[in-house]
Amino acid sequence: MNYKVLYRKYRPENFEDIIGQEYIITTLKNSVKNHNFAHAYIFSGPRGTGKTTTARVFAKAINCVNPVDASPCGKCDFCVHFHDNPDIIEIDAASNNGVDEIRQLIDNVKLAPTNGKYKVYIIDEVHMLTTSAFNALLLTLEEPPAHSIFILATTNIESVPITILSRCQRFDFQKIKINDMIKRMSVICAMEELIIDEEALKEIAYLAEGGMRDALSLLDQLSKGKDKITLDFIEQQFKTISKKTIDDLFNYLEENNINECLKLIDELRNRAIDYKTLIKKLVDNASSRAKNIKISNQKSRLSFEDYKKLILDLIDSLNKININVDSYTILEMILLNYFSNPSITKENKEETEIDEKVEKIDYEDKSVNNNDDLENLIKLRINNCFCNAQKSYLEHLKTKLTEILPSSVKISGKIKGILVDATLVAASDKNLIFTCNEHNVTVANRMLKEIEKCLKSELNNQYQIIFLTEDRWNKEKSTYIENIKNKKKYEYIEEKEEDKQEIINDVFDLSKVEII
Ligand SMILES: [Zn+2]
Repeated sequence: MNYKVLYRKYRPENFEDIIGQEYIITTLKNSVKNHNFAHAYIFSGPRGTGKTTTARVFAKAINCVNPVDASPCGKCDFCVHFHDNPDIIEIDAASNNGVDEIRQLIDNVKLAPTNGKYKVYIIDEVHMLTTSAFNALLLTLEEPPAHSIFILATTNIESVPITILSRCQRFDFQKIKINDMIKRMSVICAMEELIIDEEALKEIAYLAEGGMRDALSLLDQLSKGKDKITLDFIEQQFKTISKKTIDDLFNYLEENNINECLKLIDELRNRAIDYKTLIKKLVDNASSRAKNIKISNQKSRLSFEDYKKLILDLIDSLNKININVDSYTILEMILLNYFSNPSITKENKEETEIDEKVEKIDYEDKSVNNNDDLENLIKLRINNCFCNAQKSYLEHLKTKLTEILPSSVKISGKIKGILVDATLVAASDKNLIFTCNEHNVTVANRMLKEIEKCLKSELNNQYQIIFLTEDRWNKEKSTYIENIKNKKKYEYIEEKEEDKQEIINDVFDLSKVEII
């Protein structure tokens, strides 16, 4: 197969296609137009920003017979035979860092060019040369023959000796802007007939951190065997967090939406996103928000000072990740601090609301008066329901409830409201499990006896019931299915007042139970 990776396939052949380095390109084009060349150039900057590509286009333009607006024409002998032209010498110092290669190069420098006016030497990753190789190079740079032009490229300018730097015209390549990368990728995707979301393009640009080569490599990987590239797919593939997700998190913070914020943190926790990467992205996002508040006067619930403190908190949390606690809990605690009423957390708020309502209803179930008792009772009843639950019985009862509830006169008021909203998800002849929204769960579980009495009046059977949120139910159901697979046994535990404090035994007999 002659598959060419995108980065090579779409490597710019002229100055116009090189993106994000306008100042450098203009300067180089001017020197081509004026035939005014330095003997040595050094291109420095992060990987994938176009240093080598620019060096090649420039090398071609230097000798091109008919440059078009300073770019190589692509038609003359020199342009056509660029890749096998003995006057263009390209060395990768990362693999040839020895003094021998440089010696050979220097011997070659003295010879006049074969075809063109200049011999152009491109030395990539020049910082990798050994000290003696640098010294040999320096001798040439000190007294270069008139026909030689050196273009050195490096990702690590600090490691290039000052003696070399002082003999070069220096160009610092910048990371490519997100929008420029998106534009270039869109063009390439269109030519490759790749379908890709705008959000996905943005995410690739973001992941590539300003390097076009990395962006196109990512695109290469993602496009294999995929008709359409979406943001979700990228997140799955690279186990990453998109800019959109980070934006969502801060938007919830700005909207003071605690529930959604905690839900999102939970999602990230479940996806086991690397905490350091997450914090880095949060800090990036928070600082650009802080800047927007300060510079563009952008309206926001949190102040500049809030964001400043939040950034410090987030960075500080990195010192705590070695302690054996869930780092996401630390993150939750940090973020909760920035919701508008820090004294009322989610649970406290609901407790307060519920206490107000509960006072008004006839609250019979005095034994279930604290959360521990309630949690034990919930566990006991889930266990007991799983012991004898029957799918056919569940279906039968569900139908019956749908028929009787709306017109029931025996069940009315608040309880009717709760039951109509609730879904019966598991049933045995003794136990029922309902799911409903979080608020109703708390209210209903505090008036179980009352609800049981109502159900008995319509169904002529005494059931022990419990209400769960859908999330909790899904977790319980997964545990149950897991237990079945592991052949754990469920055992019915008779409910007595004094039993309610007991932790449920995990001896279960599941053999007779159908999966719900
Ligand atoms: Zn040409």
